[in-house]
Amino acid sequence: MTRIGHGYDLHRLEPTAPVGSGRPFVLGGLLIDNPTGPVAHSDGDALTHAITDAILGALGLPDIGQLFPDSDPKLAGAESSLFLREAVRRMRERGYELGNLDATVICERPKIGPHKAAIIARLAQCMGVDSSRLNLKGKTHEAVDAVGEGRAIEVHASVLLLESP
Ligand SMILES: [Zn+2]
Repeated sequence: MTRIGHGYDLHRLEPTAPVGSGRPFVLGGLLIDNPTGPVAHSDGDALTHAITDAILGALGLPDIGQLFPDSDPKLAGAESSLFLREAVRRMRERGYELGNLDATVICERPKIGPHKAAIIARLAQCMGVDSSRLNLKGKTHEAVDAVGEGRAIEVHASVLLLESP
């Protein structure tokens, strides 16, 4: 038995403090030096949010916004690895393991390529899987609309879950 899941996330990007309201730019749990960062209730890690939703979706569970509402004051500034760990815990509890993950990050800045290996290593550690099961792609939006103007970051993630032997 296999199950497929898709996750999507978008966050507005603003100049980071003290200039604007953007949080430090964190992607897949990796802090990246960047003049803009996400506006969010949690740490705004769009990649981790999309992966969490892909896993929850594959399991047919409520989505990240339902499990971790942005109205919860305890989650203000929360590290998103918390959400991903919980999704992975629920996956294992239901007898599934990660077959593979493929994710696409779309933003103008920062360039994802130089950080790809470090992000994958962090995600693999957080999820307790071998990094060979994780794939990450970075794209720009060709100067089109808000993402292309550097005012937002968008992530798509697909997962395949396999029933544990
Ligand atoms: Zn998000």
